[in-house]
Amino acid sequence: MKRLSDIGTIKDILSRYGFSFSKGLGQNFLINPSVCPRMADFSGAGEGVGVIEIGPGIGVLTQELCLRADKVVAVEIDKRLLPVLEETLSDFDNLKVVNADVMELDLSELIENEFKGMRVVVCANLPYYITSPVIMKLLEDKLPVEAITVMVQKEAAQRICAEVGSRQGGAVTAAVNYYCEPELLFNVSAGSFMPAPKVDSAVIRLNIYKEPKYKLRNDRDFFKVVKASFAQRRKTVLNSISSSLGLEKKVVNELLLESKVSPTARAEKLSMDDFVRIAERISDYE
Ligand code: SAM
Repeated sequence: MKRLSDIGTIKDILSRYGFSFSKGLGQNFLINPSVCPRMADFSGAGEGVGVIEIGPGIGVLTQELCLRADKVVAVEIDKRLLPVLEETLSDFDNLKVVNADVMELDLSELIENEFKGMRVVVCANLPYYITSPVIMKLLEDKLPVEAITVMVQKEAAQRICAEVGSRQGGAVTAAVNYYCEPELLFNVSAGSFMPAPKVDSAVIRLNIYKEPKYKLRNDRDFFKVVKASFAQRRKTVLNSISSSLGLEKKVVNELLLESKVSPTARAEKLSMDDFVRIAERISDYE
């Protein structure tokens, strides 16, 4: 098996394939040999498990996943990496590389076609320019996935894993908590990548609820309320919701009181149950 975290190996591959890193595609490859085995262990990849990886790069994490799981499907947008992956992962017959933009892929269909009878997890060192959209797509598509283990920027990890109702929390914290229990696993220094990014990273795991924890008539109203409440996080929820949703203050004031939420509270003080109650009232109102 090739040591794909080795700088010499990476440089050799880059020069033989004439490959140059694309900043726009968030290409920072892992060179710290301890990170990928840990990520793969935490991901739940194992016997009877299928793994979706997003952005395999030259395959450093992919090989650890292939060693553990029954099958790995790696989605890579950059077609320049396809011949590289063919070489670096030639030892594995339980891998399929799909050349696509993960944001455009029908992942439900992919899971149905590729992972029949298997439990499914996601594991990836995410391209940072689309961290939140990818995570929200994975969650909102309600895929039959048990857990999502991803490397993201440290600041994003802290926000996602903060308590809802705390200062560190934001719209993404509440949105993620709607579907799963987020967990911060370990930090990874900027020097663990080539080229080194400006900021440190962290690996998080989103443990998806087996049964939906919050059952709303219309899920979208929850996300609408969360987004509107945090749109102007320094303002009161009354002002932020009414200006973001274009509703009269009198109406929003009523909705909030009916939801047992103080109109003068800030979004960062609200709990999941508060957002759920406001969303239910908004559904009544529509
Ligand atoms: N997994 C490798 C590693 O850990 O060294 C590479 C990780 S690098 C941070 C992100 C990878 O995602 C790159 O290979 C990049 O080409 C790929 N990528 C970027 N945007 C993507 C997209 N929309 N869909 C699929 N892959 C994408």
